[in-house]
Amino acid sequence: MKITDLKCTVLGQNPVVRITTDEGINGLAEVESSKSYLKPHVLFYKQLILGEDPTNIERVMLKIRRLGSFKPWGSAVSAIEMALWDIAGKAAGLPVYKLLGGKVRDKVRVYNGAVRFPMGGFSPEDFAENMEEMKAASEGFTIIKQGIGFHSGMVANVPDLFYGEVQKGGFHANRGLLTERGLKHVISCVEAMKTVLSDEVGLALDCGPGWMLPDAIKLAKALEPMNVMWLEDLITGDYVPYVLAELYREVTQSTSTPIHTGEQIYLRQNFKDLIEKHAVNIIGPDPCDIGGIAELKWVAEYADLHGILIAPHGTGDGLIGLAALVQVSATLPQNYIAFEYPVGRPEWWYDIVEGLPEPIVKDGFIEVWDKPGMGVELNEEATRKYLPEEDKDFFD
Ligand SMILES: [Mg+2]
Repeated sequence: MKITDLKCTVLGQNPVVRITTDEGINGLAEVESSKSYLKPHVLFYKQLILGEDPTNIERVMLKIRRLGSFKPWGSAVSAIEMALWDIAGKAAGLPVYKLLGGKVRDKVRVYNGAVRFPMGGFSPEDFAENMEEMKAASEGFTIIKQGIGFHSGMVANVPDLFYGEVQKGGFHANRGLLTERGLKHVISCVEAMKTVLSDEVGLALDCGPGWMLPDAIKLAKALEPMNVMWLEDLITGDYVPYVLAELYREVTQSTSTPIHTGEQIYLRQNFKDLIEKHAVNIIGPDPCDIGGIAELKWVAEYADLHGILIAPHGTGDGLIGLAALVQVSATLPQNYIAFEYPVGRPEWWYDIVEGLPEPIVKDGFIEVWDKPGMGVELNEEATRKYLPEEDKDFFD
């Protein structure tokens, strides 16, 4: 089998990758909704993979893997990897999870991710109210994550939260030492959310990036009695092109609150310090950023060997990305907690993707399906009306 074409279009906000072959089998993959600008970057790799056998996934990846980097520059390589797995599964007549070594679980736990309700404000009462809505969501999540501190509207809406000057716009541009009042405010909001969830539903907190080391330690220690699931991205994180494992190690060693990071990190080599130095308790790679699903599985196994847990990121990965998350998460070792659930946006995404269960999430879990490849397809006729004019040949 040979690769005959690599196509990319943008459906809604998500770049969608389609690899075609000379045997009529095609592979699909998707890039995060926040990266609609990546289409030319995906197509950059086309000449490097044409004519290759798509079922020799690693041999194809050797040609392109080094031409990628931390988020957002690992997404194109990751999407190509996942489309290759889709082809390999379809060619073998097997779901991708079988090719990755088989299922460890029949259903995968997910947490709320892209299921969100607008915040009324950023007071403890507002956080409690929002958490009531999340808890009542039809998906029945057993873990709910909420943004606080630098990963929330607190920065712009809570006066004097920190000693820095508030930067508007950009990707997590704020960083600085919290005021005593600011830190107390954050802790009060977490207490309010715990009052709602009690010990019935786990509470995870996305915190940054942007915390200074002393504040990160103070927060983690203050929250110890509350048994939160994890504190995510306190130091580095989303769109930060480096790791700073030694700073994470200081936080992690100072507290019993689990510390989490890794959504923006590309490749196993960049997880090495975090894992070998026991710098965090939980890693959160995204299959659409780390370099694909085989890369994510390798890192999960290596983390498990070092006593580190995994809760994959995925909030913007869309419905084809969801299929990849389900396939790989079914195969991860027992250090797996849950992945971050993405949704289809706009709503018409649910009309163009075939193969998903209905409802998708039941009691906080997704049942792993058995269709060949990733197990989802785009309905050509339904999709055509959403194709941009320049991509009318996407299915040709
Ligand atoms: Mg995050």
